[in-house]
Amino acid sequence: MTTENIRTYDVVVIGAGPVGENVADRTTAAGLSTVILESELVGGECSYWACEPSKALLRPALLRADAVHVPGLDPAVKNPLDVEAVLAHRNRMSADWKDDGQVEWLKSAGIELLRGHGRLTGEREVAVETPDGDTVRLRARHAVAVCTGSRAALPPLPGIEDLRPWTSREAASAQQAPERLVIVGAGVVGVEMATAWQALGSRVTLLARADGLLPRLEPFAGELVTERLREAGADVRFGVSVVGAERVGDGEVRVTLSDGGEITADEILFATGRAPRSEDIGLDAVGLTPGDWLATDDSLTVTAVAGNWLYAVGDVNRRAQFTHQGKYQARVAGAVIAARAKGDQLDTGRWAPHSSTADLEAVPGVVFTDPEVASVGLTVSEAERTGRAVEVVDYEIGHLAGALQYRPDYRGRARILIDRDRQVVVGATFVGPGVGELLYSATVAITAEVSVERLWHAVPAFPTISEVWLRLLETRRDS
Ligand SMILES: Cc1cc2nc3c(=O)[nH]c(=O)nc-3n(C[C@H](O)[C@H](O)[C@H](O)COP(=O)(O)OP(=O)(O)OC[C@H]3O[C@@H](n4cnc5c(N)ncnc54)[C@H](O)[C@@H]3O)c2cc1C
Repeated sequence: MTTENIRTYDVVVIGAGPVGENVADRTTAAGLSTVILESELVGGECSYWACEPSKALLRPALLRADAVHVPGLDPAVKNPLDVEAVLAHRNRMSADWKDDGQVEWLKSAGIELLRGHGRLTGEREVAVETPDGDTVRLRARHAVAVCTGSRAALPPLPGIEDLRPWTSREAASAQQAPERLVIVGAGVVGVEMATAWQALGSRVTLLARADGLLPRLEPFAGELVTERLREAGADVRFGVSVVGAERVGDGEVRVTLSDGGEITADEILFATGRAPRSEDIGLDAVGLTPGDWLATDDSLTVTAVAGNWLYAVGDVNRRAQFTHQGKYQARVAGAVIAARAKGDQLDTGRWAPHSSTADLEAVPGVVFTDPEVASVGLTVSEAERTGRAVEVVDYEIGHLAGALQYRPDYRGRARILIDRDRQVVVGATFVGPGVGELLYSATVAITAEVSVERLWHAVPAFPTISEVWLRLLETRRDS
């Protein structure tokens, strides 16, 4: 690299998704000159093809599912959703796939944007291929943060290139509802998109390889979601995978299943996991393998590269693939980069500002289905796998006055896990309409390490679903 055409900044951030934006915000606020690179739209997957559009599709579906069960309100919502209006709302919530607003925000925060595809070319060096074919060379005085995110992973199915399947991107941005939609995969994306498109008029078939939905969560979560999806008319099948799929004559998809069955549909969505966007970012130039997830320590520093200058933040490090968790990591990484730039010692204790420990102990996540699933911390199977001695307390949320006020046919369950030695909550799962908003209370209980005895003095209001906390404590006392 010759010096004359190299631009130097304190920090170079590759990828302007929610995570890259937040790293850049923190380093800029700390007085470090920062450039952020983006090859598509500023705002990343979350704004245009993931969180925002998917939740805009789901909100009307979930609200209607609640409303049809509320006496007096049911006649007002007996008609199906207005699909055109929902899709138009979704388009607005995705900013019509334009990033002007987010570009303005970068400007207002003092962050320099460079459009183009970034690749590492050596220690603290990045080359950017700009949309007009130029190459801009960058050098970072202190840090390069890789925030390139993840993309949908497709299974190695023969002929998949010609199949033109939906991935999460098409499922979140489609401009009309397919008449028949096959969804492969029973994780969060699969069940959320099944819920949305079934409510928008598609006939959904959801195929799960395992014997339940949402296999990483408490089993009762998948069971309750399965019940409601089936009641809504979706065909949910377990223990089955796709062994072949092709587009036939008139554009239909013919799907062959492992149990010998066949399904014909208009679209097929593979919601079969994520892959890192790291195959073409120059990892080989710094001794790493293209296409790998980037492993980091709790300071978000890439462990396999010496010198504490390379960071991987957000989906690409695979620690906890949520926007909120990536933004938390971004706050940590920003603080670490600024501290190292100033020569300060890192404070790396538990829950310290330079340590991304929430990734390991308290990751909150909501699945926006009917019923909602909200979880944070350990599940029973994780506690067993990691040898943690826990007490498990369950409560049927539908017994609460607040739940019956919310929706008279309320079905739901709560579970907390209490660490036997420390007597603090280490895991919580709530399943039921409206439980997403309960999750922060559980996250605070876990991260603040509130003793179970002390929780008796956190009085939940009557009649709300948050009374589930009191019932869980009473159930434990009486058992
Ligand atoms: C359907 C779906 C729904 C979801 N819903 C939720 C939800 O409700 N809540 C939640 O918390 N999470 C949700 N997620 C997860 C969430 O979208 C991700 O965790 C989040 O987007 C990760 O942010 P990121 O910045 O790490 O990556 P991304 O959002 O993927 O952003 C990475 C950015 O880097 C850019 N980039 C990549 N390579 C380069 C390069 N070489 N040069 C320049 N730019 C580059 C990309 O163009 C992109 O803009 C959902 C995911 C999916 C698929």
